[in-house]
Amino acid sequence: MEITYSIVIPIYNEEANIKKLVKKLQFVAKELKGDCEIIFINDGSNDNSAEELREVYETYENIVVINLVRNYGQTYALAAGFDKARGSIIISMDGDLQHDPEEIPLFIEKLNEGYDIVSGWRKERKDDFITRRLPSRIANWLIGIISGINIHDFGTTFKAYRREVLSKIQLFGEQHRFIPALAFWLGARITEIPISNVIREKGKSNYGLSRTFKVILDLVLLRFLLKYSTKPLYFFGLPGLIFAFAGSGIGIFLLIRKLIRNIHILTEHGPLMFLAILLIIMGIQFISLGILAEIMSRAYYEIQQKRPYIIRNVLIKENKSH
Ligand code: UDP
Ligand code: MG
Repeated sequence: MEITYSIVIPIYNEEANIKKLVKKLQFVAKELKGDCEIIFINDGSNDNSAEELREVYETYENIVVINLVRNYGQTYALAAGFDKARGSIIISMDGDLQHDPEEIPLFIEKLNEGYDIVSGWRKERKDDFITRRLPSRIANWLIGIISGINIHDFGTTFKAYRREVLSKIQLFGEQHRFIPALAFWLGARITEIPISNVIREKGKSNYGLSRTFKVILDLVLLRFLLKYSTKPLYFFGLPGLIFAFAGSGIGIFLLIRKLIRNIHILTEHGPLMFLAILLIIMGIQFISLGILAEIMSRAYYEIQQKRPYIIRNVLIKENKSH
């Protein structure tokens, strides 16, 4: 049987939520036109999640469980799930019941209108304002500006994708929130739908304010990836050239003073001389960095098939087509 939908759910210490979530999902899976698989990625949980997942795997036919060897973080867990997904439509969501499976058909409906990505929008968020909503608001605004995509909420994992779009994207760091941006760059059509946002009842959130800093660094990287990943030499080389020219300009000026007026440069123009040296060294450094980045970016594009995670084992029923 062909699988149409893959629902991908990363799990890190969600023992209290798994069974309830699976019940809700099975209910929705029955409503969907087309076969559906549910892929859980156990991201190195140290509670009873692995056991819970094994139980639901044994109870239901349509469940796949991927156990990672350690905790890699939500982004890599998602990537592991995306890589195993067999459906032509892939839905990602959280395993903590903050996302309501009953909203899945709305995502699919929207995809069928001709979009490649449908992103959830937590229109009325219930999270804490200072540690969660404010940083998220700023991050969303910045990602929107940098990527040129007009959606409100990049942060939520509740999204639906066409498989072709996801297969083109490699995920690193905390970058799952950049999937729309990276996909848009590859020509995907993107839209959003409002989703309900409920408070986590069981287990605890794995994130706090510290995530904000990672997101800022990833933003810098996003900017770089979107504009310069194939031409890093321009990114580093341009300031490099400016520094080198400025430094050489000052150097020549000092040299002329020395030759014509025979001024003692070190005592008369000490700071200026050191500035010239500094600028020239910085220029050389930047250009070298650009060349290194250029070499690395080529290697990066060549080894894209490499996976940044290791799977311990996979529970999958082999009678379904691969
Ligand atoms: N998660 C994961 N690995 C991690 C942290 C979280 O797989 O290292 C999962 C977690 O089990 C949940 C989803 O990612 O299904 C979102 O995590 P969480 O609810 O902690 O994030 P929040 O909703 O607070 O942003
Ligand atoms: Mg959550």
